[in-house]
Amino acid sequence: MPRKRPTRMRGKQLKHTMNTRKRTGICVTRYCRKPQCKRGGGYCSGCKMRVWRACNPLKARLANLRKRAKANGVPFDLDIEWLYTFLEANAYDPKIHHIDRKITWGGYTKGNLQVLPYSENIAKGNRERHGQAHMF
Ligand SMILES: [Zn+2]
Repeated sequence: MPRKRPTRMRGKQLKHTMNTRKRTGICVTRYCRKPQCKRGGGYCSGCKMRVWRACNPLKARLANLRKRAKANGVPFDLDIEWLYTFLEANAYDPKIHHIDRKITWGGYTKGNLQVLPYSENIAKGNRERHGQAHMF
């Protein structure tokens, strides 16, 4: 049986149904049907994270870099003050720039990062991958 779509307007009803759902209602985000997260203020964990990333863009950027370093098994020694000054100095715009590692196999360290436009960064990757091949 399909559940009714929850909306912000239906807050009272959500509270009312909380007992039957073992104290977990549905996320307050429109069209999101995941269960509310503990201390999420009515959001599910994913929507809470999205809100947090929107409110803390710099911390989110740093967390993302740390996650990538961990996934690739490379060293990581950045902190938030350094990242702030670095991005300010390079006029970083998340819509056009990537944070790129100068040496691809190097880590996310303070000397090894640069700000590149998307196209440059992708071209750099292609040169590394197909640098020897003569395609045309
Ligand atoms: Zn949600």
